[in-house]
Amino acid sequence: MATMMAPGVQSGIAEPGRSLYDIAVSQFGKAADILGLDDGMRQILTHCKRELIVNFPVKMDGGDVRVFTGYRVQHNVTRGPAKGGIRYHPDVGLDEVKALAMWMTWKCAVVNIPFGGAKGGVTFDPRVLSMNEIERLTRRFAAEIGLLIGPDRDIPAPDVNTNAQIMAWMLDTYSMNAGHSVPGIVTGKPIGLGGSVGRNEATGRGVVFAVGDAARTMGMNLDGAKVVVQGYGNVGSVTANLVGEMTGATVVGVSDYYGGLYNPNGLDMADVAAWSRDNGKLPGYPRADALSNADLLTLPCDVLIPAAIEKQITEANADRVQARLVAEGANGPTTPEGEAILDDRGIVVLPDIFANAGGVCVSYFEWVQALQAFAWDESEVNSRLQTTMSRAYHDLIEIGARHGTNLRTAALILGVKRVVDATTTLGIFP
Ligand code: NAD
Repeated sequence: MATMMAPGVQSGIAEPGRSLYDIAVSQFGKAADILGLDDGMRQILTHCKRELIVNFPVKMDGGDVRVFTGYRVQHNVTRGPAKGGIRYHPDVGLDEVKALAMWMTWKCAVVNIPFGGAKGGVTFDPRVLSMNEIERLTRRFAAEIGLLIGPDRDIPAPDVNTNAQIMAWMLDTYSMNAGHSVPGIVTGKPIGLGGSVGRNEATGRGVVFAVGDAARTMGMNLDGAKVVVQGYGNVGSVTANLVGEMTGATVVGVSDYYGGLYNPNGLDMADVAAWSRDNGKLPGYPRADALSNADLLTLPCDVLIPAAIEKQITEANADRVQARLVAEGANGPTTPEGEAILDDRGIVVLPDIFANAGGVCVSYFEWVQALQAFAWDESEVNSRLQTTMSRAYHDLIEIGARHGTNLRTAALILGVKRVVDATTTLGIFP
């Protein structure tokens, strides 16, 4: 989240009966078929290696005690330590965390960084807790998942409704227990505590690099192109701010949990940012029309960037999406049914496990800087990020053309194959 305890989030369009993990497994199945994986390998890769559920008490400000439930799941650690964010949200559950952990495995492999996949979260609504309560909850949760996390084992980072401050509390809790400072335990921490310059903007910047590469392939001129961004937290706000600056595109629509803004002539993003900061939400901004999140997704535009939450583009609205390019800033914003409709209509989708990988790339750079106790400058961080994203993009294009698949399946082929190769080389212990 962009500011401390920004508004909480809620699920998108519900898809009863189809869990996020089912979706992740069905996406994996397409790549597994193309790769001709045997049953043993499919079993390994469709199971999460470790699933920890913790129920822990927190003292509330009024003196009462409440028990919270949290999760840390490591999907796969074959290619390196587990890596993945921590989410605070009322909908967090084991199934969602497992899906997000599996996607992290493929994402790290797609951009070829030496991490496995993990995710974590606590089920609660941060809007209704005080900062002191959130600090106590965070510290207790960090201690509870201390069973799994460690700078060489599993490194958390921010995700929905968590930020650099939450990471600082996790770092401090881990360090207090270790008896010395362990900056490599989390990424996305404040720069003064060993965080990396460029990490806060990395996911959004990576989305813009991905959009730039895809636009070149599609022959789309981004200068003056119209862009719509759903979600105005860490990923969405940075993407919306940078896309104009880096490409000359015009942002015509943005939204947050409370609703959207539309100005067909373009939004002044600095002005919108100031409004959001001062008012705590987007609706009410005077120099744009108000609209719902559902209507935002089907606005006339060239590029649509869902950067809020999962299951937003579905069979219910995919036929009305007007963009030529959809770049998934969020994890899991497009359902398989929604994607099939976009594919049929020739709309290009840059899949989450590639498009939003900039965050974990710079998390990797941050981790490397912590291990080396040496800070890089921002131009080095950004240029390494661009090189990494562009290399992955060109790999996807080549694989998609070779196998005749869309870019999500191409990304899965790339990521899954790297994990399969590592697993095969290591062999099965003992
Ligand atoms: P955040 O908490 O900073 O922001 C979420 C934003 O989405 C907020 O503006 C919120 O108001 C808005 N929102 C919530 N529900 C909504 C809805 N139903 N419709 C429209 N807007 C809604 O979270 P974030 O870190 O920006 O993460 C957003 C997405 O990006 C998540 O899917 C996350 O997993 C993914 N992601 C984040 C990172 C990262 O580095 N933070 C990296 C990769 C992927």
